Amino acid sequence: MKYELVAGLETHIELSTKTKIFCGCTTEFGSEPNTHCCPICTGMPGTLPKLNRAVVNFAIKAGLATHCEIAPVAKMDRKNYVYPDLPKAYQISEFDKPLCQNGYIELESGRRIRITRIHIEEDAGKLVHQRGDTYVDYNRGGVPLIEVVTEPDIRSIDEAREYVEKLQLIMKYIGVSDCKMQEGSLRCDVNVSVRPEGSEKLGTRAEIKNMNSFTFMTKAMQYEFDRQVDLVESGEQVVQETRRFDDATGTTEGMRSKEDAQDYRYFREPDLVSIVTTPEQVEELRGQLPELPDAKYARYVGEYGLPPADASLLVKYRRVAEFFDEAANGLQTPKTVANLILGQIFRRMPTDEEKEACNLLISAGMLRELALLLESGKMKMNLAKSTLDTMLDTGKPVGELVSEGDLAGVDEDALYKICAEMVAANPNAVADYRAGKEKAVKALIGGVMKATKGKADATQAEAILIELIHKA
Ligand code: ADP
Ligand code: MG
Ligand code: ZN
Repeated sequence: MKYELVAGLETHIELSTKTKIFCGCTTEFGSEPNTHCCPICTGMPGTLPKLNRAVVNFAIKAGLATHCEIAPVAKMDRKNYVYPDLPKAYQISEFDKPLCQNGYIELESGRRIRITRIHIEEDAGKLVHQRGDTYVDYNRGGVPLIEVVTEPDIRSIDEAREYVEKLQLIMKYIGVSDCKMQEGSLRCDVNVSVRPEGSEKLGTRAEIKNMNSFTFMTKAMQYEFDRQVDLVESGEQVVQETRRFDDATGTTEGMRSKEDAQDYRYFREPDLVSIVTTPEQVEELRGQLPELPDAKYARYVGEYGLPPADASLLVKYRRVAEFFDEAANGLQTPKTVANLILGQIFRRMPTDEEKEACNLLISAGMLRELALLLESGKMKMNLAKSTLDTMLDTGKPVGELVSEGDLAGVDEDALYKICAEMVAANPNAVADYRAGKEKAVKALIGGVMKATKGKADATQAEAILIELIHKA
């Protein structure tokens, strides 16, 4: 029998507010252990939490960007459990009145992964295992989180990955989190079940905790799918439980049978009032949202006529997309600007991190100036490319690098002379070309471009070179 994977994700995202959710401590990552703590976030008796409104606003933005409804009145609850990373022995979270509900994220295929809810809560501290001992670092305790919970709508590992990537990108666009999986600011609990293909009934799920990389998530889901199919095939039952993924063995193992809500003895947090959000506040926050990735992509393909793959690449990095938007604004040929970014500029930022940071010596306005010269026909593509390289090296605007004389290009007689010299000086390339290696002429064109400092028109040079080779 064939089986289908069914998954629902619970994604924890650390919000990049300056301070923690209930106190004034900084949320900064990577400092000495236990230096970003105070009596409130270490749960000292007698202290009182005070809700940071910025957290609520960030979460509402996250909800709006994923098509959620925003609750006019939400409240916070205590989720009780005992663990050394949680000094109060309860986490302040939201149980039955979350801030955001009923949203979705649409995948490339058009399938929608419904978002059940987004709620806010505090993060716990971190246990550090060293030299056989366990230490606790409370810096992370009280850092604000949103938890984004989906319906069990995900049907494959690829869909799970695409969903998380889209969620990540949206959150980065709206600026509520850096979503760095490797730093733990985005972590997923993956709920997986299997069922015979065609069946409507959901199987029993297992929840794999705390996936903090796509590689682990993929391996864990694959292992879990195979494990559950084996169980079902051999007539056994899948047990509803929480499992841990072991990256050393690539397997999952049971941690504990799944708690029910009642095990947490949820009750209203008595030290905090309800969270009231007016329609005006919602609209104000909506107004602060930037153009979101899907809308950008649609505009690049629809209005600018960019190939879908190019549009995706630009949209994938928020700062690159903003740079492109500014450089291409009002131009007739945004495609040319896109090509320069994806070619000349991306070559200088090989890694994802570099593209994400998009640190350039030139401004978008400077690229725009160059593009305008191209658009008006005053500058040829080859010169534009070499000029752009110099601009990127020096940070100088096109006006300082290219004179009117340069823009005039190389006149035909001069070009003939240079091409003739090139042919005379490279008998091997000429012989190769004659022997049918058409590519050999490219080396000669390269030589001409070098000799003219990129000013020559490459197409014209190619025509002259071929003519000369045939004549000679
Ligand atoms: P809990 O509150 O116990 O964590 P929820 O009902 O809120 O349980 O579900 C948690 C997550 O598990 C959700 O993302 C949901 O989509 C997913 N889920 C629920 N049932 C299944 C199932 N049968 N198979 C896969 N995922 C499931
Ligand atoms: Mg859960
Ligand atoms: Zn504190």
